[in-house]
Amino acid sequence: MKVERTSLSGVSIITPEVHTDDRGSFRESWQRSRYGDAGLPTEWWQDNVSISRRGVLRGLHFQHPNPQGKLVTVLRGEILDVAVDVRAGSPDFGRFVTATLSGENGRQLWVPEGFAHGFQVLSEEAIVHYKVTRPYDPAADRSETFDAPVSCVLLRHRQGNVLFDTGCHPAVAENPEARWGKLVRVMTPVMPQGVHVVNGLKAIGVATDDIDVVVCSHLHPDHCGCNAFFKRATFVIHEKEIAAARAPGAEMSGYLAQEWDLQVKIDAIGGERDLFGDNRIVLVPMPGHTPGTTGALVALERSGMFFLASDTVSVRATIDTGIMPRNTWNADALKKSLAEVDRIEKSGARIICGHDAAQWDTLRKGPDVYD
Ligand SMILES: [Zn+2]
Repeated sequence: MKVERTSLSGVSIITPEVHTDDRGSFRESWQRSRYGDAGLPTEWWQDNVSISRRGVLRGLHFQHPNPQGKLVTVLRGEILDVAVDVRAGSPDFGRFVTATLSGENGRQLWVPEGFAHGFQVLSEEAIVHYKVTRPYDPAADRSETFDAPVSCVLLRHRQGNVLFDTGCHPAVAENPEARWGKLVRVMTPVMPQGVHVVNGLKAIGVATDDIDVVVCSHLHPDHCGCNAFFKRATFVIHEKEIAAARAPGAEMSGYLAQEWDLQVKIDAIGGERDLFGDNRIVLVPMPGHTPGTTGALVALERSGMFFLASDTVSVRATIDTGIMPRNTWNADALKKSLAEVDRIEKSGARIICGHDAAQWDTLRKGPDVYD
């Protein structure tokens, strides 16, 4: 058998030897001494089989505590398999590897404990077999949960200060459930007290009244939670986002009126908007994550082009794997928006993700600016 290391330490791709004759084929999909020598566990808790139709996305799943290691094998069909490093403090946190596994190529992905795992079915049907090192623990199942930074971007333009998103409300740090209600079950804010956009701006000498325009990429409460503090500002929001956030049952889609539906000046946009008419800050509708998600194409004098993608590209893995996050409002729309992001990136802009921890570490923050 062949064992290939991947760019994530601990994750490997294994190709067992296949014996084929006129009856069909035979292969060993696990064997204690050989797989043990390759660094895989020799003790497993159980084996699982899942059958899924084309396009089905399973995951990302991981358990914390009691993480499961998984050895993934496709018996029939083809999948795009993904492992993401979600080990707290890992230098590779947020990085991932993908592998195409099929019944034909016989490849297996070893996903160690501490990695999230998911796949998307590329064939009509896929039969996936996986061994796991520990029992399934529903209480510890953290499907699609990541430690995600929440960001706000201040854009200083000759004609005014623009804030792209306002993050979470300060009260979220003290009592998330009091502010967000049931939403905390799907999105648990972990926010140190005092770390919010108002204090962030104060630290660089900008008062809330210095903000002229607030652009809301969309109206989820981790993006518009501090809107109320910007009393002088005009709020630029896509009209479809406003409609979605006011629709009956909007709370079920994660909209909380108290965060954004305030006595403020709202400038509803219906399409692209060049904020100051000089191509410096162009708002681009990117429906998909929500109906009115909007990104901002920003041209800087020296640092060049940036595209603030917000939750159209929550994490870099969305563009690189093409796998749609589960909290997507409309996958077809998001696919089109991601194609547009791809075009923007190829034109030379740097894509700034909504909640990518690995990228976040590389960005300039606070007084350290892009100019
Ligand atoms: Zn969102």
